[in-house]
Amino acid sequence: MTLDFTLKKYQQIIESIADSKYKVVTVKDYIESDIKPSNAIIIRHDVDLDADYQLQFARLESDLGIHTSYYFRHIEKIYKQPIINQIYELGHEVGYHYEVITKAKGDKNKAIDLFKKELSDFQRNWHTKTVCPHGGSFVENVDGYALKDIVKLIPKLLSKTSVFSNWTNFNIWKENKFSDFKLTGDAYDSIDFSGILYLSDTGRSWDKKYKRLDKVESLINPQYHISSSNDIIKLIGKGEVDKIYLLVHFEQWKNTFLDWLSWYIAQLIRRNGKKIIFKLKMKK
Ligand SMILES: [Zn+2]
Repeated sequence: MTLDFTLKKYQQIIESIADSKYKVVTVKDYIESDIKPSNAIIIRHDVDLDADYQLQFARLESDLGIHTSYYFRHIEKIYKQPIINQIYELGHEVGYHYEVITKAKGDKNKAIDLFKKELSDFQRNWHTKTVCPHGGSFVENVDGYALKDIVKLIPKLLSKTSVFSNWTNFNIWKENKFSDFKLTGDAYDSIDFSGILYLSDTGRSWDKKYKRLDKVESLINPQYHISSSNDIIKLIGKGEVDKIYLLVHFEQWKNTFLDWLSWYIAQLIRRNGKKIIFKLKMKK
């Protein structure tokens, strides 16, 4: 058995794209094009946990002539200018992964001020034109991804307290326009997904049964059952889907078996934790 969600497996996916009829377009170029390109793949990376880790993947991509869209959070461990500079210089798009409603604890005016301030850093340094909200934030700003963080959440799971933040970062767009901020758009909201096959690795699985929040309105998705990266490689080889959108979090893609295993256990707890919460909510 070969493991899925490894650096090697990601390399196989992008090599299959490089050998195919598909062309990879950035989120910005896709949104800005009046006539949407055919045989197009959009590859978006949300950088949630580790900026340095992205670099090896960014190099793999650019070596194959593939340029993708990276969304960085504006927090100390992610907003690292030297690293982001390198990714930008490889030809990738740099976007702003905002979480201002969470940071402002629900205060909308504060959130907008913060958005302007943080966005201006991205615009000044990397000509950022697109943004996307960071979701799945946990209470007390614990990042529920790594095993050590998941362990902290177990008492909360058992005490029936919700571990998910109630603030949705997307809410700021109810009263504001992208153009007010010199932005082209949002990696979710500015894209019509009806004709796009949307595939996301959230929870280290391509399978849609693990995604409760990470969903789009696609007419193509119901026609396909994708459960592994090999399924994606086959699909790219066939070339029958006109437009594909891949959301890839590299923190899920590991180099060593030990790293792979500890991440896997964390995701099992996370998935089952979610199940428990949803069940408890239903009972209330
Ligand atoms: Zn995120």
